[in-house]
Amino acid sequence: MLGVAHRSRLSVVQAYRFALDLTPRQERTVLAHAGAARVAHNWALARVRAVMDQRAAERTYGIPDEHLTPVIGWSLPELRRAWNQAKVDVAPWWAECSKEAFNTGLEALARGLKNWSDSRVGKRAGRRVGFPRFKSRRRSTPSVRFTTGAIRVEPDRRHVVLPRLGRLKLHESARKLARRLEAGTARIVSATVRRDGGRWFVAFCVEVDRAARTPNQPGVVVGVDLGVTHLAVLSTGEVEPNPRHLDVAARRMRRLARRVSGRVGPDRRTGRRGSKRWERARARLGRAHARVAHLRRDGLHKLTTRLAREYGTIVIEDLNVAGMLANRRLARRIADAGFAELRRQLAYKTGWNGGRLVVADRWYPSSKTCSGCGVVKTKLALSERTYTCTLCGLVLDRDVNAARNLAALAVTVAGSGSETRNGRGADRKTPLAGLVAVKRQPGTATAGNTGTVPPQGRTSNHVLTSAS
Ligand SMILES: [Zn+2]
Repeated sequence: MLGVAHRSRLSVVQAYRFALDLTPRQERTVLAHAGAARVAHNWALARVRAVMDQRAAERTYGIPDEHLTPVIGWSLPELRRAWNQAKVDVAPWWAECSKEAFNTGLEALARGLKNWSDSRVGKRAGRRVGFPRFKSRRRSTPSVRFTTGAIRVEPDRRHVVLPRLGRLKLHESARKLARRLEAGTARIVSATVRRDGGRWFVAFCVEVDRAARTPNQPGVVVGVDLGVTHLAVLSTGEVEPNPRHLDVAARRMRRLARRVSGRVGPDRRTGRRGSKRWERARARLGRAHARVAHLRRDGLHKLTTRLAREYGTIVIEDLNVAGMLANRRLARRIADAGFAELRRQLAYKTGWNGGRLVVADRWYPSSKTCSGCGVVKTKLALSERTYTCTLCGLVLDRDVNAARNLAALAVTVAGSGSETRNGRGADRKTPLAGLVAVKRQPGTATAGNTGTVPPQGRTSNHVLTSAS
């Protein structure tokens, strides 16, 4: 349980992430710690696998189960105990790194093994989780997590102190976190240093004591349609533009992607490695990608904070993000990445602000339905930017129409219980009782009021298929 509600206070676990400006020396230390994490991870994984293979082989000889090589525990304390006994031989240099580095690797392995075993016996929802793989220097993202020792933000708010790494310069001010720490309403649980898209970041996991709030307009429902040419369109007709510089960054990203595909990349069949020029172009593309994602996330944070503070109920669409990622164009992909993030942010921010998030079923035709009379078109090309209803004569921006349908959906479902179309004009202050399918989002404090609404005229078994 992440959040605990006290009278009018709310304790939530929240992440604060800041870009770092590391000196070359600090970067080497971080990389050494990330390498130590990898060594511990791979050593423990090899050990677990050796015992599993040994037992499998023994079984083929007909050895009874009670005489097989005994299983070894793979909980974090057990992995840690085994590592501490072996580290003198495996990593004679162990004292050069913080024990937290080894712990980072062992913890990742313990989690991976648990996810794999839960997934195998059906205890874990979602896609099947494979057996943990060895981490290579080339493929894995270097990261190290500190949970104990000196972790703090310096009074100047431009530096942080971490164990072993010392004083690190921040690329941006940590004033938001510092203010909470100084006021005594926050406690740092851990700090993770990680490289992402060629940059270094520190992410603080913080326990924050927040005042419980109510939205400014608790009875009002707003529908949100996420776009490509703009960030979002609200059912109120408001258009939220894309963050500044996003278009420029996205154009640059597309240009770099073309350059990468024009150079000699690696080939699995022949075992050929990518050329130096390909490597360089790919690194540049990675950085551009990270920048676009950052700009988009930044814009989403501003939007979701404003929405969650203002409206009692927010309705968004459930999209098949994984399915779309597989085969859509680049522009669509950016928008979809934003969509998953929008949903994640709204889920926890509505919790903080005392509102609720309603997720419409994936199959609900929000774009094709007329928000005036409710008729559903069979076809609507993506190029048609204006919705024109042949039945009632409504002419409306395509995205505003979709957002209005989403907003009306929440009212309809709550108003009548039976899913009919005539709830459209219903009083918007109708209490939204009885929403179904409570879904917890990662990082959500009080997600108890997040629901999935079946679309009109459809059975609710689609809701089950849309669990992501
Ligand atoms: Zn119409």
